[in-house]
Amino acid sequence: MSTAQGRETPAVQAGVAEVDVAIVGAGLAGTALTLALAKTGRKVALVDPHRTHHDEFRAEKIGMAQMRLFEKLGLGPAIEPLVTPMTDIHVFRLGQLFRRERKWEFGFSYGPLVNGLRAALPPEAPLTVGKVAEVSTGPDRQRLVLTDGSIIEARLLVVATGHGEAIRRAIGMERIEESKAHSLSLGFDLAVTPQQCPYPAVTCYARNPADLTAYLSVFPIGNRMRANMFGYHTVADAWTRDFRANPQKMLLEMMPEIAAQCGNFEVASPVEVRQVSLTTTTGHRRDGVVVVGDAFWTTCPTPGVGINRVMTDVDRLVSTFIPDWLETPGMAADKICAFYDDPTKIATDGSAMRSSVYAKRITIETGMEWRLRRLRNNAARQLMILGRKISRRDALPAPSAA
Ligand SMILES: Cc1cc2nc3c(=O)[nH]c(=O)nc-3n(C[C@H](O)[C@H](O)[C@H](O)COP(=O)(O)OP(=O)(O)OC[C@H]3O[C@@H](n4cnc5c(N)ncnc54)[C@H](O)[C@@H]3O)c2cc1C
Repeated sequence: MSTAQGRETPAVQAGVAEVDVAIVGAGLAGTALTLALAKTGRKVALVDPHRTHHDEFRAEKIGMAQMRLFEKLGLGPAIEPLVTPMTDIHVFRLGQLFRRERKWEFGFSYGPLVNGLRAALPPEAPLTVGKVAEVSTGPDRQRLVLTDGSIIEARLLVVATGHGEAIRRAIGMERIEESKAHSLSLGFDLAVTPQQCPYPAVTCYARNPADLTAYLSVFPIGNRMRANMFGYHTVADAWTRDFRANPQKMLLEMMPEIAAQCGNFEVASPVEVRQVSLTTTTGHRRDGVVVVGDAFWTTCPTPGVGINRVMTDVDRLVSTFIPDWLETPGMAADKICAFYDDPTKIATDGSAMRSSVYAKRITIETGMEWRLRRLRNNAARQLMILGRKISRRDALPAPSAA
């Protein structure tokens, strides 16, 4: 395969670098994997065309389960300064305060998170800024030729190129679109500061399926109050154009119940919009190469499961498979397939894909089954709200006789 000439200085000097593992793609998956493998003393080469990961709207929040995976891999000290913790999330449903979730979540901007992790790479596992011109894989050795002529030889090649197709195609993998333009994510800053917000974080579910909106999540990232909204319009819809032009007006109409907590929805940044398709992969069961993170499957941002998949891949490879694979000679497909057949990986990917599909159907599907499900869920929620109101009323002190 061939790509255009890269202009930046490579960390791998022209010549042949011999490593245990070559990782192509320094997003979250590739960088976390490199850091974790380097901590176990493996020789790793990490290649990406850009020294700095560009600022883009991607994942902006993780929960405690994902933070625990970072910590398990020894990446806690690298990630903690890059995230804003929160513990008290006010959840609104059916136009009312439904519950307070007292759980840990962590807000961040994706570019700075990836760049912060890249900055933590040790000198023995630096980022090589360069483009791959040729890739060849086999049951024993994998070989990358970069456009500056330098060569990386490895026992294992990891493809962590996210949505990038060039390397996957060169190896012979194909992406299957399971649900095209499945969902739309919108990200923007609110003008209100975290100090001015009465609630530390708010999640508000849309009331009307016709809004084609799942929920709005408002949470702090440093000194900003950030908003992520997930739904099922397309980029081309008039709704999306109108929202971009006047988010405040549309949010006031759609979610008036949290306007007061969100500075009346005054918006302080352009609205970033990302459309996401659900995809899987074929042709990945090969000698010498393993594909991880979004390069393997892409799921929907609405249930917030992408980073769990990424970090489960990284954990399973670092904790189990790569040490086992390097222990014995060869890197044939039967070794590699143990990763794709790993019950934890299968369960994590499968649950992420199922929740991506379910989130859309329960929000907007108009068939009788889904209408009945919504009715049942909302009736149960109304009863909970009512029950809480009654128990609060009963708990009030009796009026004094005076
Ligand atoms: C709008 C949006 C919101 C999201 N929100 C959430 C959320 O709230 N919670 C959650 O858990 N997940 C969320 N996700 C999903 C999450 O962001 C992804 O699952 C995760 O970022 C994937 O990481 P990755 O490392 O696999 O891919 P990426 O971060 O895309 O990294 C790919 C890397 O590969 C490099 N690359 C590409 N081609 C080549 C090549 N030919 N050679 C070398 N390098 C190459 C790129 O430069 C990049 O650095 C969201 C996704 C989107 C789009």
